[in-house]
Amino acid sequence: MPDSAAREHLLTNRSADRYRRMLAQAVDRVATRVAGTERPCTGIAPEHLELEIAAVDLDRPLADVGGALDELEDVYLRDAVYFHHPRYLAHLNCPVVIPALLGEAVLSAVNSSLDTWDQSAGGTLIERSLIAWTARRAGLGPAADGVFTSGGSQSNLQGLLLAREEALAAAGARADALPRLRVFTSAAGHFSVQKSAKLLGLAADAVVIVDVDERRRMRPDALAARLRECRERGLVAMAVCATAGTTDFGSVDPLAEIALECAESGVWLHVDAAYGCGLLVSPTRRHRLDGIEQADSVTVDYHKSFFQPVSSSALLVRDGRTLRHATYHADYLNPARAAERRIPNQVDKSLQTTRRFDALKLWLTLRIMGPDAIGALFDEVVDRAETAGDLLAADPRFEVVTRSQLSTVVFRYLPAGLDDDLADAANLHARESLAASGAAVVAATRVDGRHFLKFTLLNPETTSEDIEAVLELIAEHAGRFVDAHTAVTAA
Ligand SMILES: *Cc1c(COP(=O)(O)O)cnc(C)c1O
Repeated sequence: MPDSAAREHLLTNRSADRYRRMLAQAVDRVATRVAGTERPCTGIAPEHLELEIAAVDLDRPLADVGGALDELEDVYLRDAVYFHHPRYLAHLNCPVVIPALLGEAVLSAVNSSLDTWDQSAGGTLIERSLIAWTARRAGLGPAADGVFTSGGSQSNLQGLLLAREEALAAAGARADALPRLRVFTSAAGHFSVQKSAKLLGLAADAVVIVDVDERRRMRPDALAARLRECRERGLVAMAVCATAGTTDFGSVDPLAEIALECAESGVWLHVDAAYGCGLLVSPTRRHRLDGIEQADSVTVDYHKSFFQPVSSSALLVRDGRTLRHATYHADYLNPARAAERRIPNQVDKSLQTTRRFDALKLWLTLRIMGPDAIGALFDEVVDRAETAGDLLAADPRFEVVTRSQLSTVVFRYLPAGLDDDLADAANLHARESLAASGAAVVAATRVDGRHFLKFTLLNPETTSEDIEAVLELIAEHAGRFVDAHTAVTAA
């Protein structure tokens, strides 16, 4: 391809019209798909899609945009999993709000990088303003600060990094301090806590699992006991990681009581509100986060419960000065003299360097819709989970684990007389055959060693009728499996 043809593909002052036309084509394809989706997925098997993708010769570009988009229908769009469909009930994926998509289009085309002021200008200030807004909602106080991250896992890692540095400083740089540090979280906590502990060089048994109550919330008395044991054994409590919205059960740990324990023991409190952060804007349920204002650091995932596209997340801290543990100065990027001149370089607070202007999506969401509208959407899905819980509790074919404080429901097909092993197999089978049919997608998890199914409701368009219909499908698939199995055993 001659140079001039290649250059037409760059977004420059000469190609603005081309950009306009090309993007319109892509938007049109997605809009057509979204409007016409009959099922959340087609249930295609990886080996079939692999064939389609293997047939694409990446060294031979297609002549035109239309051709490439046609091909994209085959390799991606046709069989993608669509979270906007009311019967997608599986993971913590939300339908996205259109104002955020405007942000996405703008931020990737302008392509600001939020590491330094000289690569972003207003982008930096918009991000800072959103961090301040979220910290105010959480009640973190006047010294609060934070930074956008790639996701909850990264936010948890950074929160725990700051906690580790504070704990090591308090231990007076004793060489043997690192392997003695301990992190406390509940059995329902997120696995990124374990991963972070490993990345931070903590001991293999550094994460101490604290017992939960019957609603799967961390028990403050159990935490107090574990903290006491830690002290008695000469170990150092580095952080308590409370979860405000566990991934499986939507349970919110009792933050105020946990904060009290942390204050008494002088331990860093990290609150993982990756999922529960939607309550920050809830018109009716904000109180479920009471106590979050006492956290030293907080994880929020706007891409979980603010209806934002992946990725959009942040780490907040009560004391902005603690972010210095993530600061390094490089002459080529953010020299110390820039900090002295108070040039706002967000890289000084971040584990990333080049970083997307994800904050713009939330900015346009708040400017176009406003926080109450987002909170109302989240409230609706929490209501729906309560309805789903009622339906399940009234149905003798099913067993429910616990009532969620957010929008998940964990349950299993367990009609009277069905033994646990067969129930395990039947529930696994029901989930797989449901997904293969494409009629609905639900998640699976294990509770106390047994296989359960899970709804994560994040789509306000999902009606009670949808939930009833999916439960019927699950009962049919599982029931057929049990019948077939019982027949085989009998024969
Ligand atoms: C999803 C989740 C995370 C991880 O967030 P990512 O954005 O997927 O990295 C952490 N904690 C909890 C409680 C979550 O639900």
